[in-house]
Amino acid sequence: MNSGRLLPGPAQSLCRRFPLVVGFAGLAAVQAIAAPEPPAAAAILQDLRSFRELGSVLYIAAHPDDENTQLIAYLSRGRHYRTAYLSLTRGDGGQNVLGPELGEELGVIRTQELLAARRVDGGRQFFSRAIDFGYSKSPEETLAIWDREQVLADVVRVIRTFRPDVIVTRFPIPPGSGGHGHHTASAILAVEAFKRSGDPGGFPDQIREGLAPWQPKRVLWNSFNFGGGPPALTGPMVKIDIGGNDPVTGEPFGTIANRSRGMHKTQGLGGFSGRTGEGPRPESFVLLAGDPATTDIMDGIDASWARVPDGVEIGRLADEVIAQFNLETPAASVPALLALRRHLAALSADPVVDGKRRQLDHIVQACLGLVVRTLVSDAEVVPGETLHLRHTALVRADVVPVRWLGLRYPGTAREVGGALDL
Ligand SMILES: [Zn+2]
Repeated sequence: MNSGRLLPGPAQSLCRRFPLVVGFAGLAAVQAIAAPEPPAAAAILQDLRSFRELGSVLYIAAHPDDENTQLIAYLSRGRHYRTAYLSLTRGDGGQNVLGPELGEELGVIRTQELLAARRVDGGRQFFSRAIDFGYSKSPEETLAIWDREQVLADVVRVIRTFRPDVIVTRFPIPPGSGGHGHHTASAILAVEAFKRSGDPGGFPDQIREGLAPWQPKRVLWNSFNFGGGPPALTGPMVKIDIGGNDPVTGEPFGTIANRSRGMHKTQGLGGFSGRTGEGPRPESFVLLAGDPATTDIMDGIDASWARVPDGVEIGRLADEVIAQFNLETPAASVPALLALRRHLAALSADPVVDGKRRQLDHIVQACLGLVVRTLVSDAEVVPGETLHLRHTALVRADVVPVRWLGLRYPGTAREVGGALDL
């Protein structure tokens, strides 16, 4: 896509005979599939507000369904932070209330349930290699079975990749431990990873791969009372209210949380309605490591574009686009978004900035109503066979000209040229 002179018009389609010269990696890169409808205007505005924010929170626990979906919805949709859940396991050791799948097959299903939950609450999803081997009496037993150092390396890798400002755990590290060993182990590994992810000498193989050290500000336990008793841990505490409504759609965070949690269908949580939709919902956070916070979990963290070298102007331009965004005509924002894109292109390479570039491209695409689709004629092929691909591009808005520049197949490093006005 570019902003050159182009003619808006009807859908164009291209058909290419594409010899399959590598195996299934190449196939996977191009075998895409029914393209969705463009996002609604409210979803685009939500994405714009997320683009403007640079704060980030990583939630860490042990299993699918451990996560506090209202906190994730509040942080992602209410405060527009990059928010993610790292589930150390895929829940493969649990029971299945829906069907006969157990073990690895159940882990595959629960992976999809977690991904579906994040599509509802707006978070991202990470996993580690830790296996859910069923109930464990102690974190020591858990960490011996998991291979502590390898799972710790996975947690450090997620922190260095996602770059959270704050880590939140679902579980504490009480003296003598208690409860499910996986739960306590997830908190132990979160704190240890916090201490090692910023150290260039920690897991140097990751540094050699190109990951940079990253030091979050603090680790907080998202406190709750076990069985209504006293909290398992005391210490510096900060409280925030995670109640309220999505500022764009008006939906209460509690309702979004219910829908997200309802994705854990193999755990019998379909139709979950355990949280109150409206009203305040105070949550407490106890410091486990790092700098204390007194008024907010993000105390002392600059969540604006000012934290990025030469980023102040990006924040200002994003504010302007948001102020002028018209829900009736999202395409009217495209010229301003393309100007923002040019400023963004001038910033130095950085994993978070690179992610923002991709996010902005998606926003521009959504505003244009640009839908690109690839269809394959055969569902199954083998290396050496010819695979027929049919590419279709549709632009719904006609505010700026759009040109098809070519096709790039990442799996084969192959490009097919041929500019075409859309
Ligand atoms: Zn659990």
